[in-house]
Amino acid sequence: MIEPNTIHIKRNILLNPGPATTTDTVKLAQVVPDICPREKEFAGLMKGLRSDLCKVAHAPEPEFTSVLFCGSGTINIDICLNSLLPEGRKILVVNNGAYSTRAVEVCQHYGMPHIDLRSSVFECPDLRRVEETLQAHPDIAVVYTTHHETGTGVLNPIREIGALAHQHGAVFICDTTSSLGMIPFDMVEDNVDFCMASAQKGIMAMSGLSFIIGRRAVIEASRDYPSRSYYCNLYLQYEYFEKTGEMHFTPPVQTIYATIQALKEYFEVGEEAKFARHRRVYEAIRRGVHELGFETVIDPRIESGLVVSVKYPDHPNWSFEHIHDYCQERGFTIYPGKISTTDTFRLCALGTIDVKDIEDFFVVLKEGLDYYKIKM
Ligand SMILES: *Cc1c(COP(=O)(O)O)cnc(C)c1O
Repeated sequence: MIEPNTIHIKRNILLNPGPATTTDTVKLAQVVPDICPREKEFAGLMKGLRSDLCKVAHAPEPEFTSVLFCGSGTINIDICLNSLLPEGRKILVVNNGAYSTRAVEVCQHYGMPHIDLRSSVFECPDLRRVEETLQAHPDIAVVYTTHHETGTGVLNPIREIGALAHQHGAVFICDTTSSLGMIPFDMVEDNVDFCMASAQKGIMAMSGLSFIIGRRAVIEASRDYPSRSYYCNLYLQYEYFEKTGEMHFTPPVQTIYATIQALKEYFEVGEEAKFARHRRVYEAIRRGVHELGFETVIDPRIESGLVVSVKYPDHPNWSFEHIHDYCQERGFTIYPGKISTTDTFRLCALGTIDVKDIEDFFVVLKEGLDYYKIKM
């Protein structure tokens, strides 16, 4: 193990929506002696990891369990949807943004019957429409939505959507990739049957490891559902874990070491303190953008507190690329928006950053605006 104070790693402030800024101890946890992941020692690490991930989501074992996959976060969307739809039934996607649209694309790709219940990306979905759709289509077996729509920063009313799904006998899958471990979430109280994330977002580890947390009984029932993928099948991976304690195929070994270290740090800091830190970083971002004269596009009452969508200023010298590069060269990464109708960029409060980093960022952003003579 390399001691963190014996090596200097440049610290970049990532204001993009993941991967996030990590601690040096997490980065260095990847530098370990080579190991064959089929050794018992490694399977033992995975057992503790699966259990800790359930704790982050407040998912009580053994009713709930977690299943790990090697891949970026989108693999979870693919797996949950393709694995949990029984024959002859339908998926309802409550869609108010880019990430739920990705789920619709997964349904289209597999040719799975689905309803794309679209609504404005600037607002929360209308619960009455969700209810009416469920009433009109008793063959809906799965309701799907995104907790925090990372494209805009909107936080969706998942508890209410989950309650409606359950009233109509449907399983509720929620993409919590950009919220889990950063804002309060409780699998049981929030009426979620399956949630998901990847190691590089809320947990602040490295990319390459993704995980699904869900109801064991539903996973077991899905054994008899149509199998639509070989590599990306929830039941097959679950079954292999239950039998052997390992992933079916080669796991992302070093990423798993980093994730174990990141979870250790997560529990040491404590969920409340971590939520509070993300919140104050978000507030510092909002303060900074408004002080500079930028406009934001989402009503703060429905914002997650993790992403701020900022409108491009109406000035002839404005170029996102120029400002991006100016900040990037000075250690701050900003990110384009994901709203098709409005030109925005995003500033995010993920990662191990604090108010001081945001204040430093706004000094640089202000310099960049002055350098390009962009008057706000
Ligand atoms: C980041 C993210 C994902 C996963 O994206 P990848 O690029 O595959 O890691 C999925 N859903 C949401 C809401 C996200 O923010």
